[in-house]
Amino acid sequence: MRISAVRAHPAGAPLRRPFAFSQWLFTHRETLIVEVETAEGITGWGEAYGPAKPNAAAVMEFFAPKILGRDPRDTEDLWQFLFARSLDYGQKGTMLAALSALDIAFWDIRAKDAGRPLYRALGAARQRSVRCYATGFYPPREDDGETAEARFEAEAAQYRAMGFRAAKMKVGFGLERDVHLVETVRRALGEEIRLMIDANHAYDPITAVALARRVEQHDIGWFEEPVSPLDMEGYLEVKRGTTIPIAGGECEATRFAFEPWLRRRAFDYAQPDLCACGGISEGMKIATLASAHSVHVTPHAWGSAIGQAAALQFYAARPRHPGSLTPEEKWIECDSTENPFRTEIVAEPVRFEAGEWLLPEAPGLGVEIDRDALKRFAL
Ligand SMILES: [Mg+2]
Repeated sequence: MRISAVRAHPAGAPLRRPFAFSQWLFTHRETLIVEVETAEGITGWGEAYGPAKPNAAAVMEFFAPKILGRDPRDTEDLWQFLFARSLDYGQKGTMLAALSALDIAFWDIRAKDAGRPLYRALGAARQRSVRCYATGFYPPREDDGETAEARFEAEAAQYRAMGFRAAKMKVGFGLERDVHLVETVRRALGEEIRLMIDANHAYDPITAVALARRVEQHDIGWFEEPVSPLDMEGYLEVKRGTTIPIAGGECEATRFAFEPWLRRRAFDYAQPDLCACGGISEGMKIATLASAHSVHVTPHAWGSAIGQAAALQFYAARPRHPGSLTPEEKWIECDSTENPFRTEIVAEPVRFEAGEWLLPEAPGLGVEIDRDALKRFAL
């Protein structure tokens, strides 16, 4: 089998209702879908996390010419080759996002060629579904005409109706406002639904600990990115200061960068994004390292249906440790914000039922791009 063409599809769409997180206001979304075509007629799809056009340039100008004619099923060899060729220029960010997209596409092809869903090609037994948590509760823009409180109450009702048993909300808007919003969401969700909080690295360690202590009483499942991803000592300080488990790692890439975080258990939940951390190949290595340090892995997933499927397939196959007859339930992220790339660019999105994703039974990632829809969002 040989690679005959690589194509990059930068996609963008304005949001009908802009929303904020602790770093900026989202008014549109964009992503990069990557297509790898083989002479044998099997096509693989991947996705790169981050700014679409710079990622497209890395895919098309830098990586693509180096892999034409290669066998895409040689996933390990290709990863090492491409990583070695880009190491001197970028060990995370654009270069790794581009490599991630290609690796996901290679794995899509490899699993399609094997006639198996990707998670089964990775060695996992058949599973029906995995539990997921709703990522939402982003405050609206101030002139939106709706208060955060009203919007959050409506969202909570929607997630309950959809059967979610866990949800994650944004914090990082200032201590008092955060405490108020956590109280609002907890009240709206009720006591039965797990609630996680995510500051997107808005705080210094002292403020993060102060917030954690103020909301501990609301049974918080984890506190995600409490402090800067560049401050491992800060993470450890927050961990010492609260009983809430700590999550992080969505800004990190490769086993090499994750290793000290895992060895020191700077977070309890590692959250590599498959579209940024190095793809399926590297995600599995990060998960293996995590299992050796008893750190849970639950991927960050905020992209298109391709990235969502990659995260789901990876999650179903990830190494787990410790084992148990009755393991505590874990969750994978289900971005529940406005995102046309999750629902409109594939012929059939991953099926969702009562708070769970059903694992696709088709070979590969299990989702196929609708080319006409992809064209509508072309940047
Ligand atoms: Mg996050």
